[in-house]
Amino acid sequence: TAASGGGLVVYADSAAESAPEPSQDAPKKKVLVLGTGWAGTSFLKNLDCSLYEVKVISPRNYFAFTPLLPSVTCGTVEPRSIIEPIRRMFEKKSKDVTFCEAECFKIDASKKIVHCRSAVGTNLDGNGDFMLDYDYLVVALGANVNTFNTPGVLEHCHFLKEVEDAQKIRRSVIDCFEKASLPNISEEEKRKALHFVVIGGGPTGVEFAAELHDFLVEDLVKLYPAIQELVKITIIQSGEHILNMFDERIAAFAEEKFQRDGIEVATGFRVVRVSDDLISMKSKSVGEEVSVPYGMAVWSAGIGTRPVIMDFMQQIGQTNRRALATNEWLRVRECEGVYAIGDCATVSQRKIMDDISMVFKMADKDNSGTLTLKKINDVLEDICIRYPQVELYMKSMHMLDIADLIKGAIGDSHKESMVVDIEEFKKALSHVDSQVKSAPATAQVAAQQGYYLAECFNKMEKCKEHPEGPLRMTGESGRHFFRPFRYKHLGQFAPLGGEQAAAELPGDWVSMGHSTQWLWYSVYASKQVSWRTRMLVVSDWTRRFIFGRDSSR
Ligand code: FAD
Ligand code: MG
Ligand code: MG
Ligand code: MG
Ligand code: MG
Repeated sequence: TAASGGGLVVYADSAAESAPEPSQDAPKKKVLVLGTGWAGTSFLKNLDCSLYEVKVISPRNYFAFTPLLPSVTCGTVEPRSIIEPIRRMFEKKSKDVTFCEAECFKIDASKKIVHCRSAVGTNLDGNGDFMLDYDYLVVALGANVNTFNTPGVLEHCHFLKEVEDAQKIRRSVIDCFEKASLPNISEEEKRKALHFVVIGGGPTGVEFAAELHDFLVEDLVKLYPAIQELVKITIIQSGEHILNMFDERIAAFAEEKFQRDGIEVATGFRVVRVSDDLISMKSKSVGEEVSVPYGMAVWSAGIGTRPVIMDFMQQIGQTNRRALATNEWLRVRECEGVYAIGDCATVSQRKIMDDISMVFKMADKDNSGTLTLKKINDVLEDICIRYPQVELYMKSMHMLDIADLIKGAIGDSHKESMVVDIEEFKKALSHVDSQVKSAPATAQVAAQQGYYLAECFNKMEKCKEHPEGPLRMTGESGRHFFRPFRYKHLGQFAPLGGEQAAAELPGDWVSMGHSTQWLWYSVYASKQVSWRTRMLVVSDWTRRFIFGRDSSR
């Protein structure tokens, strides 16, 4: 069979034969990816997998769309609609990507080996343990729930982290209603069974409370008319306001709406103990302790570190931390070939004050020992790439250029030839590092990091010589290097129930109400990872609009 194009005749068969074999002398480097959540799948999706030998480890053979987990707790969306099998996601890359359903329980960076355990396959020793080696390791293991060692939480509270958690919550809510409908139960017992408590007023806790409230008023009151009066939802928040990571206007809007809805928001309380029928909390201001009976409690008060990450951090000397520290290129500090992305990692931004003499030297191109405003201006862009806090600081102080910054330290003069000595330069930059901010633990950050790291891996060969910048500061062009990772915040939603939502969009935009809920529907439909799940989610929403939620256990 011949295909011709523009006078060139290519014989498919012989072309295939003569195609260069993947060269035997240079075997592909092994990339091992731990985790198939937001960070891991985003990395894999964007990686040119033909360049490497890629292996993926995760105890779950699917990706879960976590932002819709709260909707699963009340049956607004079915669990199957928000998960996508990993093998299907990477079907087209299946030649280059191997998936193993197993849990990694130890990372040995000195031997470049990872220890894994499968729950299903057992070897001759009778356990499911095996080892994998790597050249590059991508740690994307996510985070754990954090109980802050509060007694009773592990035993008595629900969590909302995995799909199984959401399914358990759904069954438990219905159980509480059925229990309260039994004839042999006192009214006091009924009230207790129907008291739903959410611990943690962050986005997840708030969204769950809102979902539950909708489930009650839209579906359950019709089905359990005798007991609807006895239902109560409480959110316990240790801070002064719920949703305190959002704009104040959104927090106020949410608190007002919840008050109208009859959702109690107890702020300034820290839960100190949970028993099988009481939640004890301490008022932060007065210090007095109160206990409330409850039927079901959901703990969503923060994220913690997985044991395998904890152990790894000990090995490499990163102690007393919540997450793995990486450099700005997402490589684990002091660890060859290991990268970490998503909730299990944080970027530790270098302080410009620690590098000030190097920066001074870079800017002083003719080695005269003095800097002029012009010289600094020439490298300002590079400085801002390497130290984004400079840009943030200048923006926060409404400064337009470096002259404004220096003026703050030494008085005004805008002459390009003005000479600035290193002490003055230091003084000007001394407040800049206070602007260093770490990115939040969100899907948005995890996905952007996965994408960025894949780009780096795709260009790894090209950038071999100078993998990490800021080389442009030397002014030489034609060299390949990576820009450091930079998070771009695209906004954030908080669904509040009753077909209302709040959103914070880039550029200090805040929007709230019914139209924002529609924006939410369209954004979350578009963010689905496949047409299959998109279709399932949209049909779940439609079904709910028409028939309500399913209230069977
Ligand atoms: P994860 O997505 O948690 O992935 C971790 C992966 O590692 C999983 O595949 C897991 O199975 C695997 N794994 C775990 N242990 C092991 C092991 N020992 N060995 C191998 N693999 C392992 N963020 C937003 O931006 N917007 C939202 O609306 C939003 N809503 C949320 C709602 C809920 C209910 C929750 C729980 C989170 C929400 N988030 C949201 C946060 C977001 O889900 C996380 O920030 C994101 O999942 C982090 O991605 P990750 O890849 O680091 O971790
Ligand atoms: Mg992941
Ligand atoms: Mg996930
Ligand atoms: Mg996780
Ligand atoms: Mg992180």
